[in-house]
Formats: sequence, C-alpha cells, structure tokens
Amino acid sequence: MEWEWLTGQVARLPAAEAPLSADVGLVQTDGMLWIYDVGASPAAADAINGLPGKKTVVLSHFHPDHMGNLEQVDCEAFYGGVFTCKKAGGGTAVSRELFLPEGVHLFPLPSVHAKGCIGMEYGEYAFLGDALYPAVKAGQAVYNVSLLAQQLQVLKGLRAEWFLVSHGKPFAQSRDAVISRLEKLYAQRVPGQTYLPAELN
Ligand SMILES: [Zn+2]
Repeated sequence: MEWEWLTGQVARLPAAEAPLSADVGLVQTDGMLWIYDVGASPAAADAINGLPGKKTVVLSHFHPDHMGNLEQVDCEAFYGGVFTCKKAGGGTAVSRELFLPEGVHLFPLPSVHAKGCIGMEYGEYAFLGDALYPAVKAGQAVYNVSLLAQQLQVLKGLRAEWFLVSHGKPFAQSRDAVISRLEKLYAQRVPGQTYLPAELN
C-alpha cells in the first residue's frame, strides 16, 4: 500500500474493502508521527510499521475498521474518545479539546455515527473519521438534531480549509461545502423532531 501525500507533512493510506479497513491519516511533525486510525488490514499495519520514527496513534472512534490494527501497530501512546479507550482497555481519553505542542489539535466531535468521535486538526487539514455520516435507523439514514447542532458548532470553530473524511468520495472535502450542506439539513428541522432524514453518502 502506498501513502498518498497531501502536503510534505500530511498523508493518508486509502481505505480498502475485504477486510474493511478505514483510511489511515498521517501527520509528520519534528519529533513524532501522528497516525489517525490504524485500519484493520495486514497491509495497513505493515504500511504504518514501515514508517521510520516514533508514532502516536489517535483513534477517531471505536469501529473495528478504524481501530482493528491497534495491537499490531508499534506506537508510543494512543489517544481516543472516552468510550473508545474503554473498548481498547487503555490509552489517553480525550474528553475536551487538546492542543499538543507539535501543532496537533485533538477535539471531541459530536456525531450520530458513533459515541465519542475524535477529530485531529493540523494546519489546513482536519481528519474527521466517520463523524459526518448519518446513522441508519429502520433502513433510513438520519441525523440526530441536537448532535448535528453540536457538531456544526465544533466544525465552525476549526481553522482547517479541508475536512478529511474516511471512506469519503472524495476524501478531502472543502470545509465551506461541508458546513453549508449540514446547515441546510439542520434548517429543515421542525420543533419537537429528534431525527432528520438524510441521504446516505
Ligand atoms: Zn464508523
């Protein structure tokens, strides 16, 4: 598997099917390689372990295609949401935003897709994992109205111009386009409504 470089410091390993394995993000700072999700395929584990240098892992959420390789990957430490760390039996739980000295910004991202999603922002890029996706209830894709409001607030506070979406087509999506799409959806809510129907994307 080949790393695809977005800049000299930011790269990703594309998602794959069979076994389902999410995109792996990479931010290279002076002293550390920040790995955002570890995927679930042997090829992804090999690609991560093949990078020379100290590594810290950040898990976007607890789904197996994102964290399946955790035990296979050599890393100094890992971060995740409170629920993800509970599932993983360790790690540093991110319960509020964290500005790390290397310029890496970790933040909780409310999402109906999974409990305890974490994003990772670096410069012009913000890795968001699956957090933008709706949930599926009784065959219908839906967003939870109050989680969507909270998510929009977090997204609007980011400085990154590009949102990096796991399994996304495309992977890099313009921040303005994503925010306006979600705002349009949010504007369709009616009082008392818990879930907003959405397109599966
Ligand atoms: Zn997921």
